[in-house]
Amino acid sequence: MSAVIQMSDEIVSVNPATGEEVGRVSITSPDEVCEAVQRGRDAFSKWKLTSFDDRKRLVMRARDVVLAAMDDIAHLISAESGKPFGEAIAMEVAPVLDLMQWVAKNAEKMLGPKRVGIGLYSLLGRSSKIVYHPLGVVGIIPAWNYPFSIPLGETVMALMAGNTVVIKPSELTPFVGLKIGEIFEKAGFPRDVVKIVTGRGETGAALVDAAPDKIMFTGSVATGKRILAAAAPNMTSVVLELGGKDPMIVFEDANLELAASAAVWGAFCNAGQSCSSVERLYAQESIAKELTRKIVEKTRELKQGAGDDEDVSIGAMSSARQLKIVEDHVNDFRDRGAIIEIGGRRNENLDGLFYEPTVISGATNDMRAMQEETFGPTLPIATFKTEEEAIALANDSEFGLTASVWTRNYEKGKRVAEQIQAGSVCVNEVLYTHGIGQTPWGGFKNSGRGRTHGREGLMELVQPQHIHVNRIALLPNAWWMPYSSNAVKTFRGFASKFASGSLIKTSALLPQLWKRITELRKK
Ligand code: NAD
Repeated sequence: MSAVIQMSDEIVSVNPATGEEVGRVSITSPDEVCEAVQRGRDAFSKWKLTSFDDRKRLVMRARDVVLAAMDDIAHLISAESGKPFGEAIAMEVAPVLDLMQWVAKNAEKMLGPKRVGIGLYSLLGRSSKIVYHPLGVVGIIPAWNYPFSIPLGETVMALMAGNTVVIKPSELTPFVGLKIGEIFEKAGFPRDVVKIVTGRGETGAALVDAAPDKIMFTGSVATGKRILAAAAPNMTSVVLELGGKDPMIVFEDANLELAASAAVWGAFCNAGQSCSSVERLYAQESIAKELTRKIVEKTRELKQGAGDDEDVSIGAMSSARQLKIVEDHVNDFRDRGAIIEIGGRRNENLDGLFYEPTVISGATNDMRAMQEETFGPTLPIATFKTEEEAIALANDSEFGLTASVWTRNYEKGKRVAEQIQAGSVCVNEVLYTHGIGQTPWGGFKNSGRGRTHGREGLMELVQPQHIHVNRIALLPNAWWMPYSSNAVKTFRGFASKFASGSLIKTSALLPQLWKRITELRKK
């Protein structure tokens, strides 16, 4: 299982921090992608019958495999993506290990049959329960920025729900994708339950065309739209985890020292290549200067370099294309009169794809780079006067993935949070909630559709079936045929009494109901 099927072309994976080749991998052809989905479908017929206990045992074994190989995995993630080795452990390995144990231990509770209250219908001897069925083959198409934790977490959730999985990793991080396949193989998962196909966008498109039963996509808005359109003919349902332009609002009563440290981490971890990076900071006017000074000081202390050095905080950008976007956006800020407080250029002391962490003040929402996703180590700072203005500025975006609000007044924090149009909003915290597997992850507006993680994420991976039972099936139902004026009188009673949900009102309907049933029994 989990092998790349046959060679027809190859991808050269390169370490963006050093330019060294990580390795070469074959491209899976469209026919081979179809075959992978078909094999996944065949494997599904048995996998769906496994017990939650068996799935849990295997997932926990896969977790042991990850734990035992933690350093090797983190080095591979660092080599293919350019992120610091320590960050690969903190932001990918650790959170996904937590997610794995939580899903393994709790899937049965969340997906076991559930009795549903059906109000007055239960007085008629009826009962309802919901049974959750797996979907079949789940196609996972992730981005390169969290190449391990995102597809592995989604895979484990899909498997615990009883599905099989085909993953098409990003072309920038194919070896991390293959490593995921290897982990399931070592853990002893049955053949073809997890398969990896490798390639670029065309291979992802072939996976969509192969009509899996669900697609979990993480990437850009443009590709998300293409996938939605390509999935339409087969009516394949799609979860889209897309871009962000996440705002951080800092009120004058916030702990400024903490907010400054949070802004630095939130904007610059993974070289700013997180969907939930702080991409816009709104500081209340009275503290904007002081906050900016603190942020600049903290930024100056950060060491940039290749991911393997343990004291490196800022790694490389993952691709030259991404670095070019950052350069364009910083130039746009410069041209529009914003001030580059620190950074603002490639790091010429390093050979790889390094851009210096950059803090910009005097930004305003009408600047292009305050609207488009930058996905790089930039922190533009704008100011606001009032709570209402802060909310309006934060919501002035096509995106709505995450946001954060900083204040010592928790009531105000929660009040503001609920008015921000974003899938996750933190008060006095930033960015990290993708790491809390128990909570739903997903965006408002163009940041996505559907959810991963949490109970809501698990529900995306099953189809609920309603089982309804009539335990006293002796009499015909009053709403059955043939209709009559007596029937219509009863239906009026249903509308005015039974549909009120009140037992007292409904009891007044009983004589009419009995009359109608007697009428039907005579027919
Ligand atoms: P991308 O859209 O270029 O590629 C994502 C994946 O889609 C890759 O595996 C790629 O090979 C594949 N792909 C490309 N064209 C395809 C097609 N036509 N059909 C099927 N698959 C296709 O995105 P990227 O540059 O890899 O990722 C960066 C984006 O991902 C950013 O916008 C970032 O915000 C977003 N992102 C979002 C989340 C989230 O949870 N919302 C998490 C991480 C990244």
